[in-house]
Formats: sequence, structure tokens, C-alpha cells
Amino acid sequence: MDLIKVRREFHELAEESFQEFKTAEHIRKIAGQVAGDFDYVEIAEHKTATLVFIKGTNPSKTIAWRADIDALPIKEETGHDFKSLDENFMHACGHDFHTTIALGILEQLLNGPRQEQNYLIIFQPAEEKISGAVELIDNGILDPYNITEIYAAHVSPEHKVGEILTKPGVLFAGACEAHVTFTGQGGHAAFPHLTRDPIVAGAAFLTNAQSIVARNVDPIDGAVVSFGRFTAGETTNIIPDTAYLAGTLRSLSNETNELLKQRITELAHATAKGYNVEADVKLIQDGTIPVINNEATTAKFIDFAKQYANIDFLPIKEKMTGEDFGYFIKHYPATMFWIGVDSPSGLHTATFDPDERALAKAVDFVSDYLKSLT
Ligand SMILES: [Zn+2]
Ligand SMILES: [Zn+2]
Repeated sequence: MDLIKVRREFHELAEESFQEFKTAEHIRKIAGQVAGDFDYVEIAEHKTATLVFIKGTNPSKTIAWRADIDALPIKEETGHDFKSLDENFMHACGHDFHTTIALGILEQLLNGPRQEQNYLIIFQPAEEKISGAVELIDNGILDPYNITEIYAAHVSPEHKVGEILTKPGVLFAGACEAHVTFTGQGGHAAFPHLTRDPIVAGAAFLTNAQSIVARNVDPIDGAVVSFGRFTAGETTNIIPDTAYLAGTLRSLSNETNELLKQRITELAHATAKGYNVEADVKLIQDGTIPVINNEATTAKFIDFAKQYANIDFLPIKEKMTGEDFGYFIKHYPATMFWIGVDSPSGLHTATFDPDERALAKAVDFVSDYLKSLT
């Protein structure tokens, strides 16, 4: 397979989460070409997800690999001649790489003698939005395959091509969206005593919320409470009826995650009471719980990576980015890791530009690892 050509095709097809219709069609086309001659391969579909199951000769396990396939609402500024055909969406998180690598792995798993174990390659929609992992797992789509262990990778712009990084335990934070609306009574700004001002309540809440990390979270644990949106009102002299704040709550353990949700809810309602307005709090967690690598699968993976000739294995600290692979880890023994792609600009930027030489290295390494799991 010409991995660079395939990656550029997926890069051009960048599509919104759960709307990856063209991407799914292209995945199915290539998977069909690669697997067409093998009667022990089954390709199943669920909405925009594609599942490729390779039946083993004498299976005691089903080893799964997960790739996410969706893009982001970003206008691409790479200047590439293969830039996204939809100017409103871009593969700025490297999921075109993930999709291509999974197809390359499929090809390698079918190369040579038929494997003893079962393999399942999962092309998952909607990692960026809540949540393709939940869609597949909660609807029982994966149940028939009896997955015994599962792996996934994410590209890392900060690391060189050929570098593989992971650690046992927590790798990614849990991320919960918080949507808080304060509703008061609007009116003329010259008569504030006749209003119930939701902006002042929102501002107090925003300031108070900073105390959660400083005063409620164990300083040894990490946590983030960041509000990226605060909207209210239209003009200088009208107090509006509502103020809306949206933010993200992040932490490295499920316990701290619950604490953040509890405190943000309490503070919103207590602040609303103090300012004589009402608070409405919506928390959306879904699949983005912490990615906590399984000890056994991760030890096995690290041992293999350290002795593999063509890559450099490096340890890494956990990060506050979120990943719905955490939802797989909740259900199956699993390991996630980073693949170095050496991009000058970071994930989720309009100039994200991973080095395509990482594709072949990743395919060879991961395929050899998966085949080693006898
Ligand atoms: Zn992303
Ligand atoms: Zn991503």
C-alpha cells in the first residue's frame, strides 16, 4: 500500500464527527481491496464506523486495534496541494494518519501465514465530539467479537519520527464539558436595583471556580478548570436576562473527575443564590474519562518496543488532553501510546503538518507487535 498516497486521500476528505460518510466509504473500499481475497476476513459497518475482523486459525484471543477517523472544524492553512476539500474541516489532529496506519496494519496482518489469533480493526467515528467510543460500546457493537485486549495510538507533534512513547497508568486526562447558564431579570443599566444581574453572578462564579483546583483538589493530583467561553448581553446600557459560560474540567483520576463536577455544580448554585439569580448546570462527560493504561498490556508493549530495532522507545508524562479511548480502557485491558510525527505546529492548529515518514515506521512496528501477541 502506498501509505503516503492513502494518507493524502484521507486528508482531503476531512469530515465532521459522526458525519464521516465519504471517509467511511473510502475506508471500506481500501479494506475491501486489501481483504477481498481472504475468506476469513469480515467487514462490518455501524453508521460511519467500520469493523474489520480477521478470524484466526486457532484463536484464544481477539486482539483489537482502534483508529479514529474524524476531523476538526478548522480552516486549513498548510498550503498543501492535498489540503482538505471542505474548507471548513481539517485533519488537524492526525486522524488521517490514524486511519491510514490502521489500513496499513490490516494489510500487514494479512501478509504471510494466517495468524493464530483473531484480530479486530476498529475505524471509530467521532473522537473529537462526544463520542464514537460510547456509540460503539454502549450499543453492543463490539460484543460479538469478545475483545481480549485493545491498543491505540495518537500522533505526537512534539516527538521525532521513530519515537514511541507511553507509560503504565494514566496517560490522558478525563475531560468533562461544563455549560453553566445564569438567568436573572434584565433591564435598563441605569436601574440595576430593578434587575437581577446574571453577568455579575457569572463573573463571581468564574472567579470562585478558580478556587476548586487551588482549594479542593489534592495538590499532588493535577486538575484543570478552564472556561473558554463567557457570553452575555448586547450593549453598554442593557442588563441582559442571561449569562452563559462554557468550559472544561480535566483531571487524571476518576475520583478527582467526580470531585470537579460536584464542586462546579455546588458553586454555580451557591453563587446564583448569593446573587438572586438561577443557575442551570449541564455537565457532559460521556466517553472522555481518563486513559489509564492497563499494567499488564502496557508492560508487554513496553518490553516489545524497547527491543524493537527501528524505533526509539521513550517514557512520557501524562497530559491534560482528553481521549475517548478511555472508554475502551474502562471495558477492556488496553494500552494507548504516542507516535512521534515531528510537526512544527501542534495538534488542533491550522498548520498542523505531521511528517509522513512516520506512517511506514508505525505500520511496521505496530503490525509486528500485534503479531507477537500469541
Ligand atoms: Zn483532537
Ligand atoms: Zn486526536
